[in-house]
Amino acid sequence: MKTIGMLGGMSWESTQSYYSALNRGINQALGGLHSARIVMHSVDFAEIAELQARDDWDQAALILGNAAAAVESAGADFLLICANTMHKVAPAIQQRIDIPLLHLADATARALTTDGVTRAGLLGTRYTMEQDFYRERLEAQGIEVLVPNEHDRTFVHDVIYSQLCQGIVSDESRAGYLRVIDSLREQGAQAIVLGCTEIALLVQQQHTEVPLYDTAQIHVNEAVAYALAP
Ligand code: GLU
Repeated sequence: MKTIGMLGGMSWESTQSYYSALNRGINQALGGLHSARIVMHSVDFAEIAELQARDDWDQAALILGNAAAAVESAGADFLLICANTMHKVAPAIQQRIDIPLLHLADATARALTTDGVTRAGLLGTRYTMEQDFYRERLEAQGIEVLVPNEHDRTFVHDVIYSQLCQGIVSDESRAGYLRVIDSLREQGAQAIVLGCTEIALLVQQQHTEVPLYDTAQIHVNEAVAYALAP
């Protein structure tokens, strides 16, 4: 079994989900007392979020690049950035390490294309919904990406930072997200990408008939398969 490297803490609320899902996945495959081999570096998210807001992605890339190098030195065989947004600096992080980085957007694109989804709605932070770094990886696989309108993007983004990343899950926000999901479906989305690793804490498949693609779980599934591959 390979050792999984994690860049976590973005936010720690979703890193908990990753940690338990990785262990559960390895245990389901190997049984008994088996659990995942993991090396993790968990950041102070306040520092990263401030750099995002200041548009200082170079400094964020430096911090995460150093963290990735430390994870590699500690014995990781491959790396997961446990957040969608910080894949904006994935190329800079990959340059700092010799181990492979398992890209979250590519894993998501594979899950969508496997299921025949060609038009998907994308929910995430403002950076993920509005910038190219994430959407273009999906579009490169032939998936048309729909994002909410400006008003709804602001709502989705604000709930992530002011609630979900702080462990706050409210019925009111869930209702708001479900309204945004319905509106994307009306525009033709066949499925919704939960393109932020905290969103599944708020909205799960039981809440809607629109197929949901939880990027954290998709990333975990690929990581477990990769860790166990010969
Ligand atoms: N975890 C989130 C994501 O998947 C948001 C936090 C961040 O900005 O990194 O994008």
